[in-house]
Amino acid sequence: MWRTVSGWLPRVSRPKPIEDPFDAVRAEIDRVCRGITLRVLPRPPAIPIPGDFGPLARVGIARDPDELESLLGSPAYGLGPQCPVCGNTTEGHQRLRGSLQPEFVSGPSFLMPVWIHPTCLEACPDTGEQRGVPW
Ligand SMILES: [Zn+2]
Repeated sequence: MWRTVSGWLPRVSRPKPIEDPFDAVRAEIDRVCRGITLRVLPRPPAIPIPGDFGPLARVGIARDPDELESLLGSPAYGLGPQCPVCGNTTEGHQRLRGSLQPEFVSGPSFLMPVWIHPTCLEACPDTGEQRGVPW
């Protein structure tokens, strides 16, 4: 006869949490981006912004740490040499890797890898906010 014993629970081995191999990379990206502040473009971006999310609330811009490209493991800066601030090419000029962060009135925002002239980045007002990370 089957009897139940109140207060007794069978011991079962807990399933191991599934480890996401990208977790360590994400933590490292958070670490290298920490302390880099978000600036905002003083005027509409000089390069086209993909997506149809309606009007832009603001467009953030930030320097990318040197480690970011290898952490992401993709040729992220192949999008084009045009500076999003002034619209001129960065090819053959002093330039920085950076992220453009369009934020739409309707809510969405994302990051786009861009090349930026250092002087153009300096001309963008600093918000003091922590920059975004690419996910
Ligand atoms: Zn520029």
